[in-house]
Amino acid sequence: MSPIVILIIVMLALISNTSGYTTKLFKNLIRRPNLITKIATSSPSFSTRLYATTDSKPEQKNKKEKLNLFDIDIMSYELPSNENDPELLKSRHSTAHIMAMALQKIRPDIQCTIGPWIDTGFYYDFHVPNEPLTDKDLKLIKKEMDKIIKKDLPFIKEEVSREEAKKRIQEINEPYKLELLDSIKTEPITIYHVGDEWWDLCAGPHVESTGALDKNAIELQSLAGAYWRGDENNQMLTRIYGTSWKDNTQLKVYKKRVEEAKRRDHRTLGKKLDLFSIQEDAGGGLVFWHAKGTQIRRIIEDFWKDAHIEDDYELLTTPHMADLGLWKTSGHHDFYNDDMFKPMEVEGGEYQLKPMNCPFHCLVYKDTPKSYRDLPIRWAEMGTVYRYERSGTLHGLMRVRGFTQDDAHIFCLPSQLQDEIVGVLDLTEKILNKFGFNKFDVMLSTRPDGSVGGDDIWDKATTALIGALNAKGWPYNVDEGGGAFYGPKIDIKIKDAIGRSWQCSTIQCDFNLPERFNLEYTDSDSSKQRPIMLHRAIFGSLERFFGILIENTAGDFPLWISPVHLRLLPVSDSALDYCYEIKKAASKFGLRFEVDTDGQRLAKQIRNAEQDKIPLVGVIGEKEISDRSLTIRSRKKGDLGTYELNNIVDMINQAVVDNVELHEMNGIAIPVVDASTASE
Ligand SMILES: [Zn+2]
Ligand SMILES: [Zn+2]
Repeated sequence: MSPIVILIIVMLALISNTSGYTTKLFKNLIRRPNLITKIATSSPSFSTRLYATTDSKPEQKNKKEKLNLFDIDIMSYELPSNENDPELLKSRHSTAHIMAMALQKIRPDIQCTIGPWIDTGFYYDFHVPNEPLTDKDLKLIKKEMDKIIKKDLPFIKEEVSREEAKKRIQEINEPYKLELLDSIKTEPITIYHVGDEWWDLCAGPHVESTGALDKNAIELQSLAGAYWRGDENNQMLTRIYGTSWKDNTQLKVYKKRVEEAKRRDHRTLGKKLDLFSIQEDAGGGLVFWHAKGTQIRRIIEDFWKDAHIEDDYELLTTPHMADLGLWKTSGHHDFYNDDMFKPMEVEGGEYQLKPMNCPFHCLVYKDTPKSYRDLPIRWAEMGTVYRYERSGTLHGLMRVRGFTQDDAHIFCLPSQLQDEIVGVLDLTEKILNKFGFNKFDVMLSTRPDGSVGGDDIWDKATTALIGALNAKGWPYNVDEGGGAFYGPKIDIKIKDAIGRSWQCSTIQCDFNLPERFNLEYTDSDSSKQRPIMLHRAIFGSLERFFGILIENTAGDFPLWISPVHLRLLPVSDSALDYCYEIKKAASKFGLRFEVDTDGQRLAKQIRNAEQDKIPLVGVIGEKEISDRSLTIRSRKKGDLGTYELNNIVDMINQAVVDNVELHEMNGIAIPVVDASTASE
């Protein structure tokens, strides 16, 4: 194996979250949240624009940038990625070296460890023995980096023996590098010099010389703590994150997107809009859904349940824990232990909080004998599960310790498999579309080494998955050998409004659990056969999907899902009675109206409603009371005019049912008063 391959493997091992249970069942959904750092590989549609000014900021004198800086649609601008641009990867990797070099020029006491490239740039971990680094230092380091870039020093490769490498590392007193050297198993060892000023143990690749980098495309972002080799028993190191691109335009686009992602951060919006909280008194990773959040959750759940019932699913409800023996039967005790909470003692036995719902559905299946005529069986459950996540990895709603899976299991005959998968894809599309997600990235993962089940069943299942994707006409990528050990699977990522991808839906064939639970059906020839089991989730986790939904909409939920459809704004207290009458009339349709009772002036009431992101407000003054009308203002479109009360309540109801905004309704009721004279 070449040194570069080894180095990549070492780096991957260090930065990846290695998992115990090889099944990875549903785990990808929860364990790999796409954080802000993922937004680099984006494409779609958002119309925030970055306009270039003609004033001569120093960086705009650069010719290359001038071409790009006019009127860029930052959300559709295609930023390059490490995967599709090897030059970018080289430059990021080289930048990490230069940062380490610059830091050691300023602080010779600091020792280097590793510095890999990441999705949007690079980081480097340092051992800082004395004075800790601050944000001020980042500025000094960047200045020093700029000098190194300006000097245009060449990257020079040197091959040395292990002994020689060891000797040189000892000379410069870099104990972490010595450990890294031990993990490199082949010779010769490669060293890269930056001019004759600095060197690092590395397999490359690098740019030709430091001058190939654009100082205006690089920014040092933040400091963080990180354990040596990711192990919390090891020394705590200081990590410096940097972002680097090919030119200043790309850096600007990236930063604008990060800013946009920050503006949409579900943790901030969740607090501002009073949707949910994580209570430190209750412990990390446990979500409290507040009244408005629960309102949205109820709407999501109701829609989801109705859609499943329409599709001939049945709903189950199962416990939150079970005897440890069950988890031994299912294999979770042996293969998923790291992700489970410790069992609790119950009357001398042990109970386990459930990390998954599947074994429970297997028990229900086994509870009565099944015939081939009973299949397919489709059982869905909003099943709340608990998984142990380290406190350092918890992140808002995206990574939590207790969450509700929108789970379902299908038990079917081999001959029914493809139709069932098509059915799941149809339902997935229907449900995701309803929430405004229309762009999917589909991945098919095939048989890995060490899998269970014969060739025959693997071929059949893989063929069924492919057949279903073809029947849907969905393009997909193949992850050869990326399936679970118990069966092949399809994973679906959704694209959000700022171009980020989120892994949500999954469909997995399982040849293992039916075996472990000895699930059977009686076939037409009276023989006992094993059903095929499909696991599937559409949102993945309700909590995480809510987080994605908040960020996708920036808290401006579509009308049908808004916790409040319309807020009534009384111009004076004398309008309150009419407001309550309207609220009552609306609630007969299940519409969610509320009354502003703060007694503020109208302008202030409108501003408050804006801040609370209420989609519609209804203004009630003397004229509205005497005409029995309502003057409507939409958050997105401004004044919509004045309408006869019953008509407008009907129209709002229809908009909610049709999943459109009020201003998108055809034949909206004729205003009884001309809009231009509508009361303020
Ligand atoms: Zn290197
Ligand atoms: Zn399952």
